Amino acid sequence: MREVGHFIGGKQVPGKSGRTTELFQPMTGEVIGRVALASKDELRQAVENAKAAQPAWAATNPQRRARVMMKFLELIAKETDSLAELLAREHGKTIPDAKGDIQRGVEVVEFACGIPHLMKGEFTEGAGPGIDIYSIRQPLGVVAGITPFNFPAMIPMWKFAPAIACGNAFILKPSERDPGVPMRLAEIMVEAGLPAGILNVVNGDKEVVDAILDDPDIKAVGFVGSSPIAQYVYSRATAHGKRAHCFGGAKNHMIIMPDADLDQAADALIGAGYGSAGERCMAVSVAVPVGKATADALMDKLIPRVESLKVGPSTDLSADYGPLVTKAHLDKVRSYVDLGVQEGAKLVVDGRNFKMQGYENGFYMGGCLFDEVKPEMRIYKEEIFGPVLSVVRAKNYDEALRLPSEHEYGNGVAIYTRDGDAARDFASRVNVGMVGINVPIPVPIAYYTFGGWKASGFGDLNQHGPDAVRFYTKTKTVTSRWPSGIKEGAEFSIPTMK
Ligand code: NAD
Repeated sequence: MREVGHFIGGKQVPGKSGRTTELFQPMTGEVIGRVALASKDELRQAVENAKAAQPAWAATNPQRRARVMMKFLELIAKETDSLAELLAREHGKTIPDAKGDIQRGVEVVEFACGIPHLMKGEFTEGAGPGIDIYSIRQPLGVVAGITPFNFPAMIPMWKFAPAIACGNAFILKPSERDPGVPMRLAEIMVEAGLPAGILNVVNGDKEVVDAILDDPDIKAVGFVGSSPIAQYVYSRATAHGKRAHCFGGAKNHMIIMPDADLDQAADALIGAGYGSAGERCMAVSVAVPVGKATADALMDKLIPRVESLKVGPSTDLSADYGPLVTKAHLDKVRSYVDLGVQEGAKLVVDGRNFKMQGYENGFYMGGCLFDEVKPEMRIYKEEIFGPVLSVVRAKNYDEALRLPSEHEYGNGVAIYTRDGDAARDFASRVNVGMVGINVPIPVPIAYYTFGGWKASGFGDLNQHGPDAVRFYTKTKTVTSRWPSGIKEGAEFSIPTMK
């Protein structure tokens, strides 16, 4: 049995609150450890460490800060296999998928290596007589990130790498369901040369999240998780005068136009719908074929593919996807499928009763496929976050464009077509934050920004890319004039550059 404590002041420390939660291995259903749940006092201890360490880190020149990131990249590359296995065992996703989770985080660390360039300010020589103006970017101080279970490597790295590269100290509150990888990432940062106290990990639940939101020394909070919690974190953090950007749930649609290559579209739907057991915020959960002929032909291709999905333990390298994260989540996803049947959707592939031989207590579920889902059904409106794909048949392009545009969530969307004009029109008009054109999971690359719209994102700056640098720094603007010896006397009207 593992005991997972916290990482404070550059080392692992045991929890002191007396509160813990069970850590599961989803592929077997076993309890493999206990995770400490931090109290307000333990959070305070992390903040004090961070506050004490941050000024010297901010004063370290950006190139040296970047070198810590470079060394981290070298160290993590040597450890990818063991990290991926740890991740797969705690989360449930397959090992190749866990490697992708690590890689997409590593790419943001690579981006953060460019910090000396990214933090450069602006300069205007001679903005007025003898006057120069320049702007500089300075770190905020101590900042925090609260992250979800479904990308325990990628999302912590998205948060801490740009923040730390910018000169901040960071408090990470990862998901209590799979904290092993975030804890190890913090250790690797210290091994790479990060001073103690600059990256702290506090494990916990609502109690420590609330303590983060209320702590006067934490200047910004980045959150990723479900929409109700994202909205709550945003409101409470900003009510305390903090910067916040909070990313929530999703219901990502994929539009299949009549001219699309249907084999390509079906493959894309299978990978994006069922990969990672559908537990991705960019998973495609709604397919929208346009026209009856497209819908019928697509269903003919999808049904055998869903029926033959290979579900397996996370360590089976040939599995398409592994178990869900917890028994409670498995029950929730199953009950959504029950609900869809009650609501009148046509369940054409039913994976509810799938059992994994030899792993009978694991949290497995077979792929489910619904046809004739209607926009008023709850299985269409709500995020299911499991291996369940809903097909909503659209009569024409306008209806297909309206569906994701009018949906409460607005994270990602994709269109499959061979028509450049339709694709261009769609990308321009759809009311969703990230768009794929013949790309099913349009997660932008590290040097662009990631963020959904509507109920999928609260706050005005996205994650990673240039927005991360804006989020984790404040701009100071300096107007300077060096005395020339000319005495002009006092000026009583507002200074202008004349
Ligand atoms: P979650 O909202 O349950 O938890 C996220 C974080 O909030 C965790 O650290 C958790 O400990 C904390 N938390 C949970 N309940 C809380 C409460 N009542 N008060 C304060 N804090 C609380 O989300 P999850 O189940 O871990 O992750 C899945 C969700 O995350 C899905 O909705 C998915 O779409 C979303 N997600 C979004 C993105 C994105 O970028 N938009 C990326 C990944 C995941």
